[in-house]
Amino acid sequence: TCRLMNSSVNHTLHAIQSLEMHMARTHLLGFPRIGANRELKFAQESFWRGESDEAGLLGVAKELRRRHWELQRAAGLDFVAAGDFAYYDQVLSTSALLGALPARFGFDPAELSLAQYYELARGNKAQPAMEMTKWFDTNYHYLVPELDAETTFDHGVDWLFEEIDEALALGLPVKPVLIGPVTYLRLSKSHVTGFDRLTLLPALVAGYSRVLQRLKERGIEWVQLDEPALCLDLEPQWLDAFTAAYEALDAAGLKILLASYFETAADHAGLVAKLPVQGVHIDLVRAAGQLDAWRAVLPAQTILSVGVVDGRNIWRSDLRKIARSLASLQAELGERLWIAPSCSLLHTPVSLGAERKLDAEIKSWLAFATEKLDELSVIARAVNEGEAAVESQLSASDAARFARRTSSRVVNQLVQRTLAAVTDDMATRKSGFAERNRRQRDALQLPALPTTTIGSFPQTPAIRQTRAAYKRGELSALEYLERIRAEIETTVRRQEALGLDVLVHGEAERNDMVEYFGEQLWGYAFTENGWVQSYGSRCVKPPIIYGDVYRPEPMTVETTRYAQSLTRKHMKGMLTGPVTMLQWSFVRDDQPRSTTALQLALAIRSEVRDLEAAGIRVIQIDEPAFREGLPLRKGDWAAYLLWAVRAFRISAASVADETQIHTHMCYSEFNDILPSIAAMDADVITIETSRSAMELLDGFGEFDYPNEIGPGVYDIHSPRVPSVEAIERLLLRACEVIPAERLWVNPDCGLKTRGWPETEAALANMVQAAKTLRGKL
Ligand code: GLN
Ligand code: ZN
Repeated sequence: TCRLMNSSVNHTLHAIQSLEMHMARTHLLGFPRIGANRELKFAQESFWRGESDEAGLLGVAKELRRRHWELQRAAGLDFVAAGDFAYYDQVLSTSALLGALPARFGFDPAELSLAQYYELARGNKAQPAMEMTKWFDTNYHYLVPELDAETTFDHGVDWLFEEIDEALALGLPVKPVLIGPVTYLRLSKSHVTGFDRLTLLPALVAGYSRVLQRLKERGIEWVQLDEPALCLDLEPQWLDAFTAAYEALDAAGLKILLASYFETAADHAGLVAKLPVQGVHIDLVRAAGQLDAWRAVLPAQTILSVGVVDGRNIWRSDLRKIARSLASLQAELGERLWIAPSCSLLHTPVSLGAERKLDAEIKSWLAFATEKLDELSVIARAVNEGEAAVESQLSASDAARFARRTSSRVVNQLVQRTLAAVTDDMATRKSGFAERNRRQRDALQLPALPTTTIGSFPQTPAIRQTRAAYKRGELSALEYLERIRAEIETTVRRQEALGLDVLVHGEAERNDMVEYFGEQLWGYAFTENGWVQSYGSRCVKPPIIYGDVYRPEPMTVETTRYAQSLTRKHMKGMLTGPVTMLQWSFVRDDQPRSTTALQLALAIRSEVRDLEAAGIRVIQIDEPAFREGLPLRKGDWAAYLLWAVRAFRISAASVADETQIHTHMCYSEFNDILPSIAAMDADVITIETSRSAMELLDGFGEFDYPNEIGPGVYDIHSPRVPSVEAIERLLLRACEVIPAERLWVNPDCGLKTRGWPETEAALANMVQAAKTLRGKL
């Protein structure tokens, strides 16, 4: 019997082994680090305020990492990701790991303390913070590595290794995650003009090699190097950098998973196939079409990791469809197939678990990061063991998809009918700018160099308390209305006293420029706890567009009408534009973004029409997110710009020639999209320029931007009060580029984060500067 048993055990073992040879594996590229209840945010902020010590923060961080690994483990993933954690930002942490810190801070990279790390991120008394910018086409912001010829990559902090050791001590199969060297270098900047940062590549790669070596010493088998830069338009020298970097890293003897995401990387598949890497990750959610290109070129031994669960959005996956789409790939690749989310889950909220108020029907259509882990494991089991093994989960997924597709909440016939009736005429003002401008001058009777503001005025603690109390039900609708109206009245009186020409109501009733409108539109849902890290300890809670967007009734008309009734000056109506509404929300994946943008445009168009009918002569449609909607590849820009510009125009174009449409954008890179900015055909555009000392305006001048412009004359991000002379100088500079008769005078952006004293002082100087200059025209 003994021998019999042995042989059957052997047989089973053999069967398991050969089965394992054919089993696709699961992993993830990264998990959100903030914690289900934003524990990391609160621990960071308490440390910054000096209310807790370093040990307190380290303890919270360690507990979060453990909890997130447990979730990955519980979902049965073959690897847990480590290195995706950061005390502020993963790019800054990479700089700290490599010891590549801006020399201006004077820190010893090997001895960097957590407090100093935060000084790099937030600035200190002597040094401004490192520059921050958006991570590819996401709303996450990273700290730009600041490199020059003297930068070394020799020795930084050991935090990564400590985290790896933590995971190893828990007995977990760890796959460290790092930003790859080429992407790191590509995202870096040098303040030395003419410095070619590619000259740093050999030293940088040597630094990475030392890191990999130390991982190898810990028994690590696989490391993931994130190279989303592979999805950008790359010049030949950057493509060569991939070859040079990865050939050098090969010597470390670790298996490398080269991870691309956010776009197709298919055009570089041939190049990547020749690199000495053992695996490649591709994003099949964003760019499903790239699979065949990779299949055709990847060497027989290379792992292919397919990103099939959306890491950028919050919808439940179609599990059966995904599993079926992977069947032939699994047959071909066996254990060389890895299944993953499309990118790090950093861009999704942590868990649906805390959503108690969210409408049950809509909730059943969603999957946040934690739920996505379970989705991965179901897909893998369906692929490895057959659909029958997870039939109940697949049926549940089918049912959720079906329910969403057929729900009466999604399709609104009224919207569908309006959409079907959209014509190009609706995107065009009655007359061209010259004619409109003439009529607006007659109708509005504004002085030369008219002064205005961007919309919001200081959101005092009292205003915030009023809104919060009303939300909690502690204030009646009438009390709330009275308080908001009192705020508006004060704001109007102050603007009159300052002598501003075009007034605003101040946005006291708005907590957020997207949420305020989303809450009044059909098709929008809001979470209680759906936080996503934006930068550092800052998190945002993007609303969810789940259905056709419909405006059941006016949203701002009563407020604006009231504000106008207080003054004989022109009151500017204040709306958020369709592209920004789209860009700062989680959007539908069952129709193109362009269609959702068009629906938003139609809703805003109705609002614009109603404001005009209520006697409002100047209407501003904010589009601060217009530029960030640009695709990563230049080749895709034209298509985006076409529908984005059209959406804006449709929102604006219903009004009479005499009604003046403003738009506002607050960033400084316009030059490459100026024709589209002009095509939006706003009568007035206000932009950020003060930080670049009006340089930005040069582009508008060279391009001969035809309509009126309000270049921001002072930076609202700082409490500093600009002098009359400083503003005058900026305006004089602006007059050299743009004819004075087309110039407006205004701050860079809204004033909601400022206090009243500096706001009034700054605006008084601004108005004075405009008056002085008028005399000189
Ligand atoms: N009207 C908004 C405000 O003034 C504009 C905000 C923005 O540009 N982000 O607050
Ligand atoms: Zn702005």
